[in-house]
Amino acid sequence: MRHTRSHTRNRRAHHALKERALSACSHCGAVKKNHLVCMNCGYYREREIIDVISSTSKKEAKKKNKKAEAGAEAKAEAKEESK
Ligand SMILES: [Zn+2]
Repeated sequence: MRHTRSHTRNRRAHHALKERALSACSHCGAVKKNHLVCMNCGYYREREIIDVISSTSKKEAKKKNKKAEAGAEAKAEAKEESK
């Protein structure tokens, strides 16, 4: 059955998304999402779950490698163009 516009809009009045609940990390005090590991220190319920320092250093190493590769490629291309 076809509804009036106000009927549809009344029904959809409850469809808005709620904001995610945030709280302070009990280990480092950073704002974190509830029920998830703290992305700042890697702790959840006073236990270290993620080794943030080593994982970030790995990520940085990867980034550096990528940059180095891109730089090497760009240099090689530049050399080819200059020939
Ligand atoms: Zn934390």
